[in-house]
Amino acid sequence: MTEAAFPLAGVCRCGRTGIAIAAPPLMTAACHCRGCQRMSASAYSLTAMIPADAFKVVRGAPVEGGLGGPQLDHFFCPSCKTWMFTRIVGVEAFVNVRPTLLEDLRWCEPFIETMTAERLAWARTPARHSYAGFPPAEDLEPLMRAFAARS
Ligand SMILES: [Zn+2]
Ligand SMILES: [Zn+2]
Repeated sequence: MTEAAFPLAGVCRCGRTGIAIAAPPLMTAACHCRGCQRMSASAYSLTAMIPADAFKVVRGAPVEGGLGGPQLDHFFCPSCKTWMFTRIVGVEAFVNVRPTLLEDLRWCEPFIETMTAERLAWARTPARHSYAGFPPAEDLEPLMRAFAARS
């Protein structure tokens, strides 16, 4: 893969809210849960886990929506309502960014998939690791190492 030029910009559907990432993701994922199906209006959501200190809102003021807590804070463009990123309450290390917003689409491919117990029967992803629920905490470090080392 050629090197991405950081910071890498991303925008919502209408362009009024802009984000930037200054580092590659720690990992990428697809989530098949019913909540993601509803909120993405699609079969699953896509995530790039961006180190928190490498993530910035550079234009506009995203508003909270979606589930509205208590464990997940979903952020949206106030104008077009695009779901842009999610902060997991109690997790300071990374922000879950929707990689389809970025100008460079290289991190849309999910490395893991979660909540396959709720997967639509026809929905398939190229993820290398599948979890019926969410990966246990002790799997995260090895998964992130494997992601960084992937070809
Ligand atoms: Zn989900
Ligand atoms: Zn917008």
